[in-house]
Amino acid sequence: MNDFVGAIDQGTTSSRFIVFDRLGNIVAMAQREHRQIFPQPGWVEHDPIEIRDNVAAVVETALREADLSPNRLAAVGITNQRETTVLWNRRTGLPVHNALVWQDPRVDPMVAEFARDGGQDRFRSATGLPLASYFSALKLRWLLDNVPGARSAAEAGDLAFGTIDAWVLWNLTGRHATDVTNASRTLFMDLETLEWRDDILADFGVPKSMLPEIRSSSEVYGQVESSSLLRETPVAGILGDQQAATFGQAAFDPGESKNTYGTGNFLIFQTGEEIVHSKNGLLTTLGYKLGDQPARYALEGSIAVTGSLIQWLRDQLGIISSAPEVEALASSVDDNGGVYFVPAFSGLFAPYWRPDARGAIVGMTRYVNKGHIARAALEATAFQTREVLDAVNADSGVDLTELKVDGGMTANDALMQFQADILGVPVVRPVVAETTALGAAYAAGLAVGFWDNLDDLRANWQEDKRWEPDMDSDERDRELRLWKKAVTKSMDWVDDDVR
Ligand code: ADP
Repeated sequence: MNDFVGAIDQGTTSSRFIVFDRLGNIVAMAQREHRQIFPQPGWVEHDPIEIRDNVAAVVETALREADLSPNRLAAVGITNQRETTVLWNRRTGLPVHNALVWQDPRVDPMVAEFARDGGQDRFRSATGLPLASYFSALKLRWLLDNVPGARSAAEAGDLAFGTIDAWVLWNLTGRHATDVTNASRTLFMDLETLEWRDDILADFGVPKSMLPEIRSSSEVYGQVESSSLLRETPVAGILGDQQAATFGQAAFDPGESKNTYGTGNFLIFQTGEEIVHSKNGLLTTLGYKLGDQPARYALEGSIAVTGSLIQWLRDQLGIISSAPEVEALASSVDDNGGVYFVPAFSGLFAPYWRPDARGAIVGMTRYVNKGHIARAALEATAFQTREVLDAVNADSGVDLTELKVDGGMTANDALMQFQADILGVPVVRPVVAETTALGAAYAAGLAVGFWDNLDDLRANWQEDKRWEPDMDSDERDRELRLWKKAVTKSMDWVDDDVR
């Protein structure tokens, strides 16, 4: 009896396997964290073998604990941390190096080098993306240049490249494929043709034979071979994590959007079949593609540091001992005391795209205490989101009337209220907080007829909580003005001899 659909959610900090029923309720879940490997300051790697094994382990744990036999799952979907780059040997199936994680800025110097010829936007009209260390292209190039023997093996056709979805799919099914949403984060895919661009691959010196096949987000890619518990279950959905969360929020149509508050923040705004090129620092990206239906596009505002700033307060400053404690500390003071915290730890992403920025805490006086710092850290997330929302409104020509939210930080009531205040529109959270996994399950379930159409999925969405704006506009304008001034103070910090 195929009563359920499973989703593998391979995120930046952990892997999860979640089983959903037809109404989108969670019936089983297991989670396992993996190591964050920091070989040098700023560099971040993951061990692909650890990820492969953790994925297998969470599948097994979730199914066993819920006492679900494998034939109860109609299909499995995959969602994943995007851009993170893996290179493996096709014959041995073994990685040639740790994965380079999306946050890793080691290729920043290469950005400047590649931008010298044609500027930072030289690939933007083809791919929707600026040249940045964030995307896979330069990470792959770094691996080819720095792993001994990698380039000759790649040229001989022995190496495979993939983002994490492709690595997980390869290990489950033996197929080397990716979906359009993940492919749209590499800097190699043409937004219109949905194919790899030979000229861009040549610019980066990447052999095409390394790349996975580009498929839709919802179709049967293969059957699971590696896991006895999932044997022969079709893998039928792949969506990058942010696109999956948008899908899980049932934000399918042009003008619909969601904002996810996790390690970083990611706002996605659907633009339908239209490719909208941003004039305001947003990315143009794939929203989803269901089988052979036309591709759906989106605008995205990616903010590198939001929840990870709360981790920094906990791990590096030690002023809280767990992330949720930040709410009480921030509420121990009446306001931010004039402090603004721009967390440009690895430069600024949307809407500025300034690799030369570094973190800045400004407005400090003798009066300031740790409560103010905590409050400024939380408020930074809301200010950054406001700037991204302004860019979305400017690019789309319509003003969003409410914001659907999800992710770990949305548990913070004070932050969500401040978010509504600083946006001037309501903020709304759904009942199922695991929207990322849910979106991947939806894509997989649609492909095998477990759900008939998008209306089935819309009917599953239910509101859990809503925050209404409650700040007068003079105060909002003043706060925003000071925030923008603080942002300017973080810029132009990195020189050739200061990193
Ligand atoms: P990811 O999927 O990116 O790993 P999650 O959606 O699980 O992230 O969210 C975890 C992030 O949310 C962490 O960075 C953590 O610091 C932050 N976080 C968790 N709870 C709270 C809270 N109550 N207030 C503020 N931040 C929080």
